[in-house]
Parts: sequence; C-alpha cells; structure tokens
Amino acid sequence: MKALINRIIPFSNVDGPGNRCAIFFQGCPLHCAYCHNPETWRLCDHCGKCVPGCPAAALTIRDGQVHWDETRCVGCDQCIHVCPHHASCKVSELTSDQLFEQIAETFPFVQGITVSGGECMLYADFLTDLFRQVKAAGKTCLIDSNGVFAFEKYPELLALCDGVMLDMKAYDEPFHRQLTGASNQQVLDNLILLRDSGKLEEVRTVLLPQFPEQNARTVRAVNELLQGKIRYKLLRYRPFGVCEEGLQFCGRTMTPLAEAERLAQAEMDRGYFNCVVI
Ligand code: SF4
Ligand code: SF4
Repeated sequence: MKALINRIIPFSNVDGPGNRCAIFFQGCPLHCAYCHNPETWRLCDHCGKCVPGCPAAALTIRDGQVHWDETRCVGCDQCIHVCPHHASCKVSELTSDQLFEQIAETFPFVQGITVSGGECMLYADFLTDLFRQVKAAGKTCLIDSNGVFAFEKYPELLALCDGVMLDMKAYDEPFHRQLTGASNQQVLDNLILLRDSGKLEEVRTVLLPQFPEQNARTVRAVNELLQGKIRYKLLRYRPFGVCEEGLQFCGRTMTPLAEAERLAQAEMDRGYFNCVVI
C-alpha cells in the first residue's frame, strides 16, 4: 500500500499540541479559496511545464514522466509557482513501512505525529497501517482533516487515532460550496460522530474579512454543536500562498484582529469559553 507524500516536517509546534512530526499528503477533493497550499490539490500530470524553469536542474523528463532529484533541489518553489494544475512534482510515493522508517528518526524528540494534507483521509487504509506502527512505538497520532470522508467507515483508524483536528469551513451549505466546491453535510456528520466518540481534538474555522455575517453564523452554530467543551480555533485569514482566484474571492488583506476578538467575546458572552483566536 502506497501514498503520495508532499512534505514531512520533522519538528512542528503548530500541527497539534507539543512537538510533532507532521506529514502532508498529496491530493485534496476540496479547493478552498483561502488554501495556503494549493499545490497539494492535484496529482502531477507530467506536462513538463515546470522543468525548464528549475534553476538547479533538479527536474528532468524521462519516458514522459517528470523526475525530481531531491539532492539537487534548492527548495525555491519555482516549479510550484508555474504549475497550472495546482500540483507538485516534488512528491514521494512511499509505502507505510518506508514512511514509518523515515519518521521514526524523529521519535526521540517528538510527542507524536500529525497527518495532514492535502487531505490525508484519501489514504485512510494507509494511515491505519502507519498508526499501528506509530502507536506500537509509543507515540500519539493526530489527524488534521477537512472532514469530507466519513470517519465511521474506518473504525480501526479511529480507535488508533488520538484525536482529529477538523476544519469547519462554513456552516451554511451554499456558502461552503462557494468557498470549497463541495457540500459540508459529511463534515457536520463527522463533527458529531467525533464529538460523541471523544475523538475531536479541536475544530478550526478561517474567518474571512469579506464575509463577516458568514463568519458569525458559522462560529455561533459550531459552538452550539461543541457545547463549549472542545477547543475551537478562530483563524484569521492570511493571504500568503493563496492562488489568484482565491485572492479574488477572499481579498488581499488579513482579517483584523479586532474582528476575530469581537466574535470570540460574543461567544464568551453566551457562555462559550472555548474559542481561541489565532
Ligand atoms: S523547488 Fe522546484 S524549481 Fe526549485 S530547485 Fe526544487 S525542483 Fe527546481
Ligand atoms: S508539477 Fe505541474 S507543471 Fe510540473 S510537470 Fe507536474 S503538472 Fe506539469
């Protein structure tokens, strides 16, 4: 069983509690307007458009396939900037055993791992294999997910997992479709399942400066579902890394801190003290 890995960050303190090894998988069924990593959306179709611009000759075409030489790559991301497909050629295809071998080197220094994306639940069976090994090594396993795949279909994965960090991008269905290209019904079903099974580590919503009414509606509705018991992160929109279409939808400025704090305060006034502004 293999998966496409976009990137491994050996030590991260922003992908869950404590110091964690974060693994980013390639591919995502959503195309969120504010995505900071749109190069994780699709799989490279080997069109070759990025090859001539590589300043380090790290990209070559052989037998109609683009090959990436990691040892030459200087990490300039020029290939990502020119890719017209929201893909990356800097992706490794690994078995769960190969990935475990790589990340196990970090284990003396981390609390556990976080799998993210793209959307890591595209590889749910692979994750089950990986988590078995990581748990046997005494480390924790967190999933960072957009919630579009049904967790109830993967009971073994859920049992192995220590928690899920779930994105709730918008509560109103039409707005969720506009923002991401897909319905939020499965996300809501997952939120309830994970909440009731004690596996919901936290929920996150990105607050968009252009859509204050949608922000307020989502925050109110999600807090009611969380019943004030689970950490709810309100993330201010930041335009860095967002593609041009996304910038046109979301704007080019950050969500003001005062706006995010006003929403969090309104929730505190309702008795919900679980909101954290980031
Ligand atoms: S990031 Fe892409 S363009 Fe830059 S050196 Fe690496 S392969 Fe080449
Ligand atoms: S990364 Fe993008 S531009 Fe480069 S070969 Fe793949 S699809 Fe084409």
